[in-house]
Amino acid sequence: MKPKMIAIGEALVEIMRPDIGQPMDRPGTFIGPFASGAPAIMAVAAARLGNPVGFIGAVGEDAFGRLLRNRFVDEGIDCAYLQTPAGHATGVAFVSYELDGSREFVFHLRYAAAGAMYPEQLEADYFSEIEWLHISGSTLVLSAACRETCMRALEYTKANGGKFSFDPNLREALLPVAESRQLYAPFLAAADVLLPTVEEAHALTDNADDDTAAKTLLGDGDKIVVLKRGAAGCSVYSSTGCLDVPGFAVEEIDPTGAGDCFNAAFLTAVSYGWSLEKTARFANAAGALAVTKQGPMEGAPTQSEIEKFIENH
Ligand code: ATP
Ligand code: MG
Repeated sequence: MKPKMIAIGEALVEIMRPDIGQPMDRPGTFIGPFASGAPAIMAVAAARLGNPVGFIGAVGEDAFGRLLRNRFVDEGIDCAYLQTPAGHATGVAFVSYELDGSREFVFHLRYAAAGAMYPEQLEADYFSEIEWLHISGSTLVLSAACRETCMRALEYTKANGGKFSFDPNLREALLPVAESRQLYAPFLAAADVLLPTVEEAHALTDNADDDTAAKTLLGDGDKIVVLKRGAAGCSVYSSTGCLDVPGFAVEEIDPTGAGDCFNAAFLTAVSYGWSLEKTARFANAAGALAVTKQGPMEGAPTQSEIEKFIENH
């Protein structure tokens, strides 16, 4: 059976400081490896929600690569197009949490397996059942080959009547924002669903007003633009207007991966044909549950966990 949802991009392991306020420019303790990478987290979150998911990407022939492949298999994700290019180690991201709540990243990614992805590795047939292709901007800035592979996947998706969702996931540690914007342009234009954080919407449009930024991204096409607002929830813009949907109050243990779990839940609910309001509540609940557990994808909830959580709030 071919997947209905395909995530393409970097699978990596994350190795992080256990506590906030431990900068990485001096020795100290790390914990990990944790399976991570925005598209990988989204794939796991989508699989837990019951979707037939395929992951396209590359890992090394090493312990970290085994960790990721085993994880995907355990989650029921199709790995037919998870490559193991010779001579490349698995991608790694080191992360620290600053006292002001921000994160610092050190990426070993571009020259790792994650960056060694090529369009000719894809086959149109894999996309024959596709409903959603999901791409993260963090993949587009890895290499020209990654960008071309994503574009090929997008072409195969559109040719098969599938829809395309794009999360900008701007990472200044990978590329300055101005350059990312240029590389993103064709993907921003082609997206059926755009899933930026509110800060990313500002950065991508050079506009500090939420409403104007969202409407600029919306353009006059038939798109949905969702501004993710952390604990405050999200705002959904579409041809029918704007909807602010508040978040759920939870104790935040680890914010990493909230956006990706939100994305998976949002696309799943759109596929169900739910209203945008019900869809946004479902996605907010998925994001809220995600931050209550340590580890990038450990908090990805199932549909019944989300429904129980909403009932109790
Ligand atoms: P990521 O670290 O995965 O890139 P992000 O920065 O893309 O995350 P956020 O806006 O932080 O995205 O979170 C996505 C969604 O998850 C929010 O829109 C909200 O619904 C939910 N969420 C995130 N943080 C919290 C929180 N502290 N409490 C409740 N809900 C949250
Ligand atoms: Mg994000």
